[in-house]
Amino acid sequence: MVKRSALFARDGGRCVYCGLEHEYEELSVDHVQPRMRGGDGSPGNLVTACRGCNARKGGRSLPQFLAEDPDARRNFFEYARFVWPRHLRAVAEELDRRGVTDPVVARFRSTRG
Ligand SMILES: [Zn+2]
Repeated sequence: MVKRSALFARDGGRCVYCGLEHEYEELSVDHVQPRMRGGDGSPGNLVTACRGCNARKGGRSLPQFLAEDPDARRNFFEYARFVWPRHLRAVAEELDRRGVTDPVVARFRSTRG
């Protein structure tokens, strides 16, 4: 398990969804794969999210949320540097299913071969 303050420090106090730095009181721990769906507290499953973005994401899965929110998607691919690659791949696959092309995601793919 990762301590909240250590996670926020790792991510530079920046929300991975809106890309803005916040006071720690405004930040929350977001389980990319929710605990109720089997996600754990490993560093690769945790990101820093401000309370507003966490609420906006609501009960949606990461691929669902990011498929529907291009700004959050761009920020996530830029700032969620420690997340497991499989989470990013799942977003890319969801975009394929929806027929959405995004240069940010294409760049992620090309760097991974
Ligand atoms: Zn935010």
